[in-house]
Amino acid sequence: MTKCPRCQSSHIRKNGHRRGKQNHICADCGRQFVENPKTNRGYSDDIRKICLKMYLNGMGFRGIERVTDIHHTTVIKWVKQAGENLPDAYHPEVIPEVGELDELQTFVGSKKTRSGFGQQ
Ligand SMILES: [Zn+2]
Repeated sequence: MTKCPRCQSSHIRKNGHRRGKQNHICADCGRQFVENPKTNRGYSDDIRKICLKMYLNGMGFRGIERVTDIHHTTVIKWVKQAGENLPDAYHPEVIPEVGELDELQTFVGSKKTRSGFGQQ
């Protein structure tokens, strides 16, 4: 369905033709536009790639929203769509957890104690 690109209203009237294409006018806000189904998706591939890159670099969805003004649910949708195309190197579950670091420190600590002076 045709929607106003400014206010998303579907209260649209035909407004003659422009360069051979149907021209429309929004009955709610008066915005004139030529219908183009391909742009109804909103954002270009470039913007989508930039958002995905930010996500892969650890930015949260809210952070991306603040930087790009693109609603975080839109970004989440893109990330889901790109899910199968993620680079192999991206394994968020591999990031070491705090528990492992604690174990390492405990190990180093006990080693020090053992090599210290006077076990009597
Ligand atoms: Zn409108």
